[in-house]
Amino acid sequence: MQFNKVIGQTQLKKAFIQQINADRMPHAQLFLGASGSGSLAVARAFAQYVLCTNRQANDACGQCRACSKAGKLVHPDLHFSFPTVGSKVTSDTFLPQWRETLLSNPYMNYNQWLNAIGAENKQGNINKDECVNIIKKMSLKAFESPYKILIIWLPELLGKEGNRLLKLIEEPPENTLFILVAENQELILNTILSRCQLTKIHPLNDDEIVNGLMQQAQVSSDMAQKVAHLSNGDFGEALSLSQHQESENAELFLDWMRKCYIGKPNELVAWVEAFAKLGRERQKYFLRYALHFMREYMLLKLTGNANVRLLDKELATAQNLTKVIEFNQIETITSLLNDVTYYVERNANAKVLFLDTSIRLNKILKKKVIV
Ligand SMILES: [Zn+2]
Repeated sequence: MQFNKVIGQTQLKKAFIQQINADRMPHAQLFLGASGSGSLAVARAFAQYVLCTNRQANDACGQCRACSKAGKLVHPDLHFSFPTVGSKVTSDTFLPQWRETLLSNPYMNYNQWLNAIGAENKQGNINKDECVNIIKKMSLKAFESPYKILIIWLPELLGKEGNRLLKLIEEPPENTLFILVAENQELILNTILSRCQLTKIHPLNDDEIVNGLMQQAQVSSDMAQKVAHLSNGDFGEALSLSQHQESENAELFLDWMRKCYIGKPNELVAWVEAFAKLGRERQKYFLRYALHFMREYMLLKLTGNANVRLLDKELATAQNLTKVIEFNQIETITSLLNDVTYYVERNANAKVLFLDTSIRLNKILKKKVIV
């Protein structure tokens, strides 16, 4: 991962390049940034620049053996620790999945990672065996580079096992760099936090997301603008949204509303069963889309102006719905969709949740419930 592949974060990249060129890297750093801000991508670019044997003024060369290996996540002096599930496993157990998932999506989030290792509804952690493994690995001499680097992704999930690493982080072997990549400062052990130099990674702005989508994912300008608006500075989310065609969401949403309105139990059950199979990430995108849709729908209803942030196909959906959903029902539906999003994020059973939601929507649409 070269710095030029990291979306946005211009000032930060400059500062890191200067720091590395001056050989003033702190031996333990914590990159703190919300999911999708690119903190893991920044950490990888930082590591590759350190390892590159033909550093350019503004970036790693991308060509040398070290760059090639770091780029493929196979450099013997670049180590990764990350959450896993199960006992008697370490991060190394999941290295093939780690490489495959991260290489195909450098902005992957925690849930996508859990999906990739088939652990969708379990909580991952960085366990005792992994801590022992870290201590063992980091005590070895570097193989090919002057430096040995360990990137720990989501040290929040170390739990109290993190205390095993304190001595190592405080008095690391020579030429060892630790980069911890975290999302939530409050969940990190204070004893670890106090031993690391903290760098905050800011969420991306809409323009950075638009440029990133157009340059790295060949997304059209129109789609990139809409998706950027939906993704709250999270590039990973923007990427997923651009891949799940909006029109697909629009059709799914209209179909759901139609079935909720008619209220035939067998149709609702069939819709819910198919929807439950989509997986949590996809369901979350759908709900986010649905909330965005309701906001724009309200504008359309309020102003009658078709100049809302909806693609042509979505606009047609919205115009169809104006016959079905009244203004006073929009708020009730939006509040219900917000609640559902909350439960999906907390792993509620999708079938039960969406069947219940469908029945509630039926009551709202039939105006049986005004609250
Ligand atoms: Zn290089």
